[in-house]
Amino acid sequence: MKKNKYFAGIIKDPGSTLKYKTYVWRDGLKPSWIKKNCTNCLTCFINCPDQAIKVDKDGNMAGHNLDYCKGCGICAQVCPAKPKAIVMKKE
Ligand code: SF4
Ligand code: SF4
Repeated sequence: MKKNKYFAGIIKDPGSTLKYKTYVWRDGLKPSWIKKNCTNCLTCFINCPDQAIKVDKDGNMAGHNLDYCKGCGICAQVCPAKPKAIVMKKE
């Protein structure tokens, strides 16, 4: 049997989750940010399972990246602002 001189694989084009727009998983609801209510605590950013909360270069909440938001509603649920700074709305 011919021996292969290579013993490890080479991945020339590594995968990236950036290629997978997980918004297609949303089921009718998307988050809506109400900037005037936002205290910039970033609780939403910490809790979003999809890193779909945008933060600007100064570290401030900057809305949602709806390409990757799957509409779970966690950000709206954990937002401590009163009144809420994130609410879930119909698509
Ligand atoms: S709805 Fe879920 S996935 Fe979308 S931004 Fe909020 S926490 Fe992230
Ligand atoms: S959790 Fe609510 S108040 Fe805090 S940064 Fe996010 S939207 Fe703003």
